[in-house]
Amino acid sequence: MEKKPALHIDAVSKIYGGKVKALKSITLTVQPGDFFALLGPNGAGKSTLIGILSSLVNKTSGRVEVFGVDIDQNFPLAKQHLGVVPQEFNFNQFEKVKDVLIFQAGFYGIPRRAAESRAQELLELLGLWEKRNTPSRSLSGGMKRRLMIGRALMHKPRLLILDEPTAGVDIELRRSMWKVMQELNSQGTTIILTTHYLEEAETLCRNIAIIDRGELVANSSMKSLLARLDHEEYLLDLAKSHHFEVLPEVPHGQLLQMDENTLALSVRKASSLNDVFSVLTACGIQITSFKNKTNRLEELFVSLTQGGKTA
Ligand code: ADP
Repeated sequence: MEKKPALHIDAVSKIYGGKVKALKSITLTVQPGDFFALLGPNGAGKSTLIGILSSLVNKTSGRVEVFGVDIDQNFPLAKQHLGVVPQEFNFNQFEKVKDVLIFQAGFYGIPRRAAESRAQELLELLGLWEKRNTPSRSLSGGMKRRLMIGRALMHKPRLLILDEPTAGVDIELRRSMWKVMQELNSQGTTIILTTHYLEEAETLCRNIAIIDRGELVANSSMKSLLARLDHEEYLLDLAKSHHFEVLPEVPHGQLLQMDENTLALSVRKASSLNDVFSVLTACGIQITSFKNKTNRLEELFVSLTQGGKTA
C-alpha cells in the first residue's frame, strides 16, 4: 500500500493585505511517524504556516494535504487527522480541567463515555489527573500548556503540531514535556514542533526545516544538517587563572581566551584532540574540564538565517 505523507505542503504562498509576503512558495513533506522541527526566526512565517494548516489563515496559493486529504477539498476529514496546539491558551479558563477535554470531544462527535475514558488516559499521561476538578485558570503555566496538548489529542489525531510548546517553561518541566512528546511519537503520532530552543529540536527531532522571511533555507535530516558543520567548538577550563599574551598554536585548530579561567578551542572535525592537549601540556597549560561550546544547531541556524535574530 502506498504510504501517504503525514503532511504535504506544495508551493504554498501567503500574502497579507496584498503586500506582506509571509510565505513564498513553500514546499515541504513530513513522513508518517516523523518527529519534525520547523524553525525560523521571528517573522519567518511559522505561525502563518500553522495557521493555514488549521484553517485560521487563508493561503494565497498552493496545496496542503494531511495524510493524503486535501484541506481545501475535505477540511472536516483533514481535521480528524490533525491536532494543533497553538501558543496562546485559548480554552475556557473557568471550566474544570477535565471538562476542557470533554467539551472538546463534543466537537468531534466522541460519545460521552469514550470521552470520559480518553480524558482520564490523557490527564494521567500529562500528569494532570490530580487536577481534573480544578478550574483551569488556577493551573500553573506549564500545566496549562499540558492541558492544551491534552485537548489537541482528544480525537486521536495522527499528526500533532505544537507551536512552541515549551516556551517559558522551566527546565524540569520542559524535560518532562519532552518525555510526553517522545512517548506520543513512539506510539505512532507524527509530531511537528516549532521551538526557539534549538537544543530541544536537536534532542527530539529527526528531520528539520528552517524558514526565513517566508522561504525554506534548509530541509533535511537533523544528522545531515549538523554534518555540514566542519568545526567543533569547545570550552576548556583552566586549572589556574591566567592571562595569555600569546596563545599557543594548536594543530587543525585555534585557541581563544574567553576569560582568565577559560579558553575556547575551535578544531576541525574528526581531528585528534590528543594532539591539541599535547601542545597544551607542553606549554604547561593544565585543563581541568571541557565541554561543547554552543549548541551546534544554533551555529547553523544563525548562518542560515542571516543572523537568526531571535532563536
Ligand atoms: P513567525 O511565526 O515565524 O514569527 P509569522 O507567520 O507570525 O512569523 O509572520 C510572518 C510575516 O507575516 C511577518 O512579516 C508578519 O509581520 C506578517 N504577518 C503575520 N500575520 C499578519 C497579519 N495578520 N497581517 C499582516 N501581516 C502579518
